[in-house]
Amino acid sequence: MHVKVLQRGPGILALDNEDGTWNIEFDDGTDGDVPLGDIETAEETPPSNEHANGIRMVAPPWTEPKLEGWTRFVCFSDTHGLHGQIPKKHLPAADVLLHAGDFTNTGELEQVESFSSWLEAYPAAHKVVIAGNHDITFDEYYYTCRGALRFHPRREYDCTKARGLLTGCTYLQDSAIEVGGYRIYGSPWQPAFCDWAFNLERGVECRKQWTMIPSDVDILITHGPAAGHGDRCSSGIRAGCEDLLTEIQSRSILVAVAGHIHEGYGMSSDGVTLYLNASTCTHSYRPTNPPIVFDAPPVAMLREATVSAATAAGLRPPS
Ligand code: MN
Ligand code: MN
Repeated sequence: MHVKVLQRGPGILALDNEDGTWNIEFDDGTDGDVPLGDIETAEETPPSNEHANGIRMVAPPWTEPKLEGWTRFVCFSDTHGLHGQIPKKHLPAADVLLHAGDFTNTGELEQVESFSSWLEAYPAAHKVVIAGNHDITFDEYYYTCRGALRFHPRREYDCTKARGLLTGCTYLQDSAIEVGGYRIYGSPWQPAFCDWAFNLERGVECRKQWTMIPSDVDILITHGPAAGHGDRCSSGIRAGCEDLLTEIQSRSILVAVAGHIHEGYGMSSDGVTLYLNASTCTHSYRPTNPPIVFDAPPVAMLREATVSAATAAGLRPPS
């Protein structure tokens, strides 16, 4: 989030030090810790709650009613086994819940089971979930080759059992589902980082994976964010995937939901696609970021508005 700091100038909220100060990356390239009282919220982008493609963001406490025929989505990610500690006020009812992966710490069966109970109890009619690099028991090849030895040397889990314990949702892994007319595609992969599950080398491997995204997807869920959108690490480095951005921008994707880089929590836009980083856990693994909630117009209206936005922005041809 862009902010202004008294007597210092503009910057970006980088990290909650959780001692009443925030680490700010200033636009002049420096950074520093600043008391909350010195921070002013600068203008948000986009400034209104209505996105160029017609999607409307819903702000906490999410009591605003949705319009007739619209669909309310609530997005979580990176709950890391701490779903039970999410503040009660952060669990608004919706039509569709989306979770962008890292629902466990290291794929523990107990956490998968408890996450399923949480999903089942959640007040949403549909729930769509993908895995992330921490959900290592969902990447059987990785787990069998290296993950079990690295993370569970004394107690190896059964990947088939782990997968079977995830209930109360539609699990997507390089697959799609249609919910309320919206075509949703989900994929757990991200550019390699420290040998975790669902890692791919940047370049050819990533490109090959992303070309599998169908051309007619409305809502894309990936664990890792696209380059330049919700991907700024606390170090200041942007770690998103360039190849994913290219693939998103060659399609008329309405919303791209991700997580993975907890510090990248928030929303941004390229004028056509709305990019959400819905990381629930902060950089220090506290599940205190509110879910991101949006209302989508009926799908035909939404697709039309997205194509108009793409044409107006001169960004890409309608699909
Ligand atoms: Mn995570
Ligand atoms: Mn992750």
